[in-house]
Amino acid sequence: MLPRRDTVWRNWARNQECSPAAVETPESTLEVREAVRRARVAAQRVKVVGTGHSFTSIACTDGRLLRLDRLDRVLDVDPDAGTVTVEGGIPLWKLNEQLALRDLALENLGDIDQQTIAGAIATSTHGTGRTFGGLATQVRGLELVTADGEVVRCSADEEPELFHCARVGLGALGIVTQVTLAVVPAFSLHMVERPDDFETVLAALDASVDGHDHFEVEHWFPHTEACLVKELDRTDAPIRTRSTLAAWRDDILVGNYVYGALCAVGRRSPDRIPQLVRLATTQLGRTDLVDRSDRVFCSPRLIKFVEMEYAIKRADAEVALRRVRDLIDEDDLKISIPLELRFAAADDIPLSTAHGRETAYLAVHVYQGMPYEQYFRGVEAIMDELDGRPHWGKLHWQTAATLAPRYPEWDRFAAVRHRLDPDGTFANDHLDRVLGPA
Ligand SMILES: Cc1cc2nc3c(=O)[nH]c(=O)nc-3n(C[C@H](O)[C@H](O)[C@H](O)COP(=O)(O)OP(=O)(O)OC[C@H]3O[C@@H](n4cnc5c(N)ncnc54)[C@H](O)[C@@H]3O)c2cc1C
Repeated sequence: MLPRRDTVWRNWARNQECSPAAVETPESTLEVREAVRRARVAAQRVKVVGTGHSFTSIACTDGRLLRLDRLDRVLDVDPDAGTVTVEGGIPLWKLNEQLALRDLALENLGDIDQQTIAGAIATSTHGTGRTFGGLATQVRGLELVTADGEVVRCSADEEPELFHCARVGLGALGIVTQVTLAVVPAFSLHMVERPDDFETVLAALDASVDGHDHFEVEHWFPHTEACLVKELDRTDAPIRTRSTLAAWRDDILVGNYVYGALCAVGRRSPDRIPQLVRLATTQLGRTDLVDRSDRVFCSPRLIKFVEMEYAIKRADAEVALRRVRDLIDEDDLKISIPLELRFAAADDIPLSTAHGRETAYLAVHVYQGMPYEQYFRGVEAIMDELDGRPHWGKLHWQTAATLAPRYPEWDRFAAVRHRLDPDGTFANDHLDRVLGPA
């Protein structure tokens, strides 16, 4: 039976929903503590939700759901230390705007800016760039409300073991009420987005990744040889953007509405998808501009889809993409949304998907309302053979038993979780599956 409509919470992709017993919107750390204590008294579990941009049920609960929409302020900027301290519920777009007002920026971002900072770091959200880690690598300090309602601060100097683990915490260690982040002086990016051919892209892959600050195969269009690659480099050149009309036409009209309409036609007639995708690739063009960094990193995503993304060794990027291409051909899958290939530096965070290895991220998507299981399970089987680690916020079927061997510091995280949340106050069915019962 579906939960009653008035109490239902749904994620962005609308493929997950839950019916919490209570929803609270605390406005301060104190109010978060009180909400946790109320939940303990009522013997309820607690989940914080960000903006619901995860594709899994990681944020779902039938207990007490906390929304941190009102914990969205910038608290402190320390230009000498190069840090900013913000509340955990601040959305990235607001953080970017606030930093820009102070001539500051985050050094790297993913491809959208809608998530909250705490939600984004919780699942190891990343962008692209060989020498850049995910957002969690930019964290310098955290304030958490723990399961017993206490406030704990951690950094490299204070509670270092907790800090080491809590940067990618999956919401399992506590409620992140404040985040201190490293920031850099504001910078501009030169973006070249250009069509290229599948084999040419793969032949030049290493040179492209090494040759640009942020390189990605933004799209490989299934059923075709067509790719769209994106090359971003820091520049002192003056801002040189498209007109508002041209940007709207490219990013919103063509990139979202026209492509979305094509996907909708494909959903009604899947056999036409290869032909429709080929048609779309005839319209690919080159974009060359200079703009403020966050405006280049992030763009609007109006088409709804579900997604799986795996982190693999950078050296396996080509073989992974070729094998997924073979899977699509051999299983005669009809895929309307392109694949994406990104890159990141190795880091030391226990549950970061880039832990200990230079990483490539391969993402696959399926348009809303279309079957995805055969495709995603096929991709997952390939990723299993490549020792892949699934994005913590995107669809997969792994369990704690299959994931633990892929993370050398798994036990370190488990020990901190056991210390902080022995009763599983912050657990849910999803965390029980992927981390094991608390
Ligand atoms: C269109 C789209 C584009 C995306 N692009 C990228 C991308 O470029 N790169 C990438 O890596 N990922 C990307 N993602 C995935 C997304 O970044 C992650 O799923 C992220 O976790 C979503 O953040 P959120 O604020 O919506 O958190 P939610 O999805 O609401 O929650 C995620 C987790 O964080 C926990 N959490 C939230 N707030 C707190 C808090 N204050 N304290 C403790 N735990 C908390 C939740 O309990 C949950 O476990 C994309 C997703 C979508 C839908």
